[in-house]
Amino acid sequence: MFGRHIPEDFVTEPDLLKKLPTYLFVEIDKKKREAQAKGKDIIDLGIGDPDLPTPAFIIDALERAARDPANHRYPSNQGLRVLREAIATWYKERFHVALDPDEEILPLIGSKEGIAHAPLALVNPDDLVLIPDPCYPPYYSGTLMAGAEPYRMPLVAANEFLPDFGALDRSTKQRASLLFINYPGNPTGACATRDFFDEAVNFAVENRIMVAHDAAYTEIYFDNMPPPSFLEAKGAKEVGIEFHSLSKTFNMTGWRIGFAVGNRKMIRCLAQLKGHFDSGVFQAIQLAAVEALKKGGPSAAENRHVFEERRDVLVNGLRKIGWDVPMPKATFYVWLPVPPGYTSAELCMKLLEGAGVVATPGVGFGPNGEGYIRMTITVPVARLEEAVKRVKALHG
Ligand SMILES: *Cc1c(COP(=O)(O)O)cnc(C)c1O
Repeated sequence: MFGRHIPEDFVTEPDLLKKLPTYLFVEIDKKKREAQAKGKDIIDLGIGDPDLPTPAFIIDALERAARDPANHRYPSNQGLRVLREAIATWYKERFHVALDPDEEILPLIGSKEGIAHAPLALVNPDDLVLIPDPCYPPYYSGTLMAGAEPYRMPLVAANEFLPDFGALDRSTKQRASLLFINYPGNPTGACATRDFFDEAVNFAVENRIMVAHDAAYTEIYFDNMPPPSFLEAKGAKEVGIEFHSLSKTFNMTGWRIGFAVGNRKMIRCLAQLKGHFDSGVFQAIQLAAVEALKKGGPSAAENRHVFEERRDVLVNGLRKIGWDVPMPKATFYVWLPVPPGYTSAELCMKLLEGAGVVATPGVGFGPNGEGYIRMTITVPVARLEEAVKRVKALHG
């Protein structure tokens, strides 16, 4: 068009993008839409996104704040002090952990944003970053984006899906500078005890490894057993930070607000890096988050009630048709062992094509996820009952 030839490969994917795995859910979503386009009724147990609406009082708070011109300007990177104070109060009440709102709390544009930036903010290229396998994908991609090397720690049922620090060899421990952990965990639904967090702190101190704990699911728990925060462990704040999010607790995944708390130097590094990427969270959303943290207790409890009923329906239903499925104590995930004769991807294909049920192959969360598939309970009870019925029919 300019009389000059623009080659076909004028824009090519850089090496980094080639190295990053295609985000798992994108591929599943494509196959799901193909089935839907053929007119199939699909029950989507694939994506970890609550189907319930954000509570009305939080939306009201957003509406009020959105009308105030003071909130229309660039927010400060540090976040509003009222939000940081509300986070401190919430942590104190929920976990008995004291946090300094000025130095130990940083609002994030969703916790995924902070998690993915954490290795870039905290480690040097060529360092090792210890990540769970299977895990939430940003630990892996965030590590690659920092030019660092992910080292997968297997999570196996025999060890209750906790990493075995004792199995790491000396050179691995020497090269590692950051450890990601996540309890209650996605995708396994496993919970950690205070003892495990104590062990993680000891491991971190002995080997000079910083810890980043992802606590996105601490409020989605069942059987009246609230899981602990990593920061409850003695010395945790000296070695690590914790990521939290309003996404799952208050059905606010689309709002994009989360936060990091804990070690002040790590918080400072993350804030410093973020200053080059973003300009903070829309203040009206921050003010709505303040309301959520202050008054959201009852709606979080209501959420747990809904998910607990669904969990019971799905797990008991699958057990009744002969699938030996463990009962998760937290999260909205069920981590199902794959029966012999299938890979996790083959089983998901069979469920999608034969039963119109979307599940996620465990292998998408890391090689040690092979042998499992993940189902989410983010659809109503009637749909879960229907899913069980269809799986039973498929099963013959
Ligand atoms: C959903 C989820 C998050 C939260 O992500 P946001 O960016 O805060 O919405 C973090 N960690 C895990 C493991 C999750 O599944």
